[in-house]
Amino acid sequence: MKATVWVTRNISIDVDGTDDKNLFKGIAQAMNHEFFADTCCGKCGCEDLKYQVRTVTTDGEENEFYEIVCKKCYAKLSFGHAKAGGMYAKRLEVGAKGKAIKDENDKGIKLPNKGWLRFNKETGKNE
Ligand SMILES: [Zn+2]
Repeated sequence: MKATVWVTRNISIDVDGTDDKNLFKGIAQAMNHEFFADTCCGKCGCEDLKYQVRTVTTDGEENEFYEIVCKKCYAKLSFGHAKAGGMYAKRLEVGAKGKAIKDENDKGIKLPNKGWLRFNKETGKNE
C-alpha cells in the first residue's frame, strides 16, 4: 500500500507500507517530522522558505549546516543531528559546548522567534 502525504504546500512524501499499521506509522512519521513544523518564518511570518545545506571546512574538518532560510528577511532555523540518528530544530539556547542552557527550573531556555534567527551586525549576535 502506498500513500502520498503533503507535509507542506510544496513538499509531499511518498509512504510505503506492507500493511495498515506500517502505512499508518509511515504517515505519522512524515506528518510529525520537525523539518515541516514551520511553514513560515518565525521572525517575519513569510511563507517563502528554502532548505539549504552549507559545508564549512574548519581546520581541515568538514561540517555540514542544515538550515531553513526565509527568503524575505534571511532569518534561519538551524537543525542539529541527534547522536541516536535523526535531526532536530535548534530552538533552545546553548552554551559553548553545544549543550542546552537550563533555567532555575531545569528547563531549556527558548530562543526568540521559535529559533528563527538572523545575524545582527550591530550587536554581533544572532537574534
Ligand atoms: Zn522572515
